[in-house]
Amino acid sequence: MRRYSAFAIAREAARHHLGWERAWRSPTPKPRYDAVIVGAGGHGLATAYYLGKNHGIRNVAVIEKGWLGGGNTGRNTTIIRSNYLQDPSAAIYEKARSLYETLSQDLNYNVMFSPRGVMMLAQTEHEIRGYQRTAHANALQGVATEFISPRRVKELCPIINIDGPRYPVLGALWQPRGGTARHDAVAWGYARACSDMGMDIIQQTEVTGVRREGGRVVGVDTTKGHIACDKLGIVVAGHSGVMAERAGFRLPIESVALQALVSEPIKPVMDVVVMANTVHGYMSQSDKGEMVIGGGADGFNNYTQRGSFHHVEETVRALIETFPIISRLKMLRWWGGIVDMTGDRSPIISKTPVEGVFVNCGWGTGGFKAIPGSGWAMAELMAKGHSPLADAFSLSRFREGRFIDESVAAGVAH
Ligand SMILES: Cc1cc2nc3c(=O)[nH]c(=O)nc-3n(C[C@H](O)[C@H](O)[C@H](O)COP(=O)(O)OP(=O)(O)OC[C@H]3O[C@@H](n4cnc5c(N)ncnc54)[C@H](O)[C@@H]3O)c2cc1C
Repeated sequence: MRRYSAFAIAREAARHHLGWERAWRSPTPKPRYDAVIVGAGGHGLATAYYLGKNHGIRNVAVIEKGWLGGGNTGRNTTIIRSNYLQDPSAAIYEKARSLYETLSQDLNYNVMFSPRGVMMLAQTEHEIRGYQRTAHANALQGVATEFISPRRVKELCPIINIDGPRYPVLGALWQPRGGTARHDAVAWGYARACSDMGMDIIQQTEVTGVRREGGRVVGVDTTKGHIACDKLGIVVAGHSGVMAERAGFRLPIESVALQALVSEPIKPVMDVVVMANTVHGYMSQSDKGEMVIGGGADGFNNYTQRGSFHHVEETVRALIETFPIISRLKMLRWWGGIVDMTGDRSPIISKTPVEGVFVNCGWGTGGFKAIPGSGWAMAELMAKGHSPLADAFSLSRFREGRFIDESVAAGVAH
């Protein structure tokens, strides 16, 4: 693969841009792989990438029923932060955030990581106590956050109305190196690097069954035929329950639609990410100028990838209280993704009852930020049978009552 660089742009410009290679191959599946990953979202692709890069396992296929990055990875609002409360969460989200810092260089692909700072507004006394507690926990975990005053909130984001009317801003949990990245680019960058290592990314191919012999996996059935494998990683977010059933076990997970919307583009008005959990909405401004707005999750299980009017209305109404300047903005489009929710709002990165089958799911409303760390941990688990970053997130925690309660950190749909 030819490297992307300023020199490459100049070279190709001189050739009327006719010399660019395809970013990844579209191969026909081989009959057998050492490892098959189901799902070419960010987490599946990152798993494949670190299997190759960190563990030298390169005879790998990533099988995707649609197009790569077309699931939640290409539908999210791209917030990256690691200000979680519990130690195992802070460890994996901070690992991910730190990998994001140099991901563009690592992949030789501009993922547009923008550490512009993320603030989570405290608009009730309860939230002040919660976020101050998180800031203290983060200090012990080595995650750089601080609890800031309403005045500092206003300095960092002048368009916020800190005075009310229902919920005045009383402070905020501020993570200066949190931010955003371009979601498609994260998937595309990992895909290109995987393809370059000789891995096969097989799109438009659904995994319809998991073949087992004597309690261990021997391959998968797909819409393009049978593929044998020694190890199988199920990384399918909202379809985790469906895939687990095909592999012969059940997961403690629910799937719901989570929604987001963007406005028409406007001139730059905010250069931080703001989350307002009490009124329930969050907003950042994209490089194109659109206000990127996160809405809520449906209150019932479903597999739709659409938005709905009542969510738009509720979210925009809530945000107008905090950002009065958006009251006359036109909304451009809205959509939904199917997120996978566990009871404790923490992910599952685990072995399963079927030997050789591993599962990575349960990232719910907040897994984009975790992609590099999650892929790193899942690859280590698949290669070595154990990963310090993943151990606490095993399936056994639900049997043993070792929940990792992140309902506050994940309380708003982000
Ligand atoms: C509206 C919205 C806003 C969000 N905002 C944020 C945010 O701001 N910050 C954040 O950190 N997170 C956010 N998230 C969550 C984040 O998007 C997800 O946690 C993350 O993208 C999950 O990535 P994934 O790779 O696990 O899943 P996906 O990207 O969904 O990939 C799974 C893939 O598996 C494929 N698949 C499923 N079944 C099969 C099968 N049988 N065979 C083959 N392929 C299959 C699917 O087609 C899909 O492409 C948001 C999510 C949504 C929906």
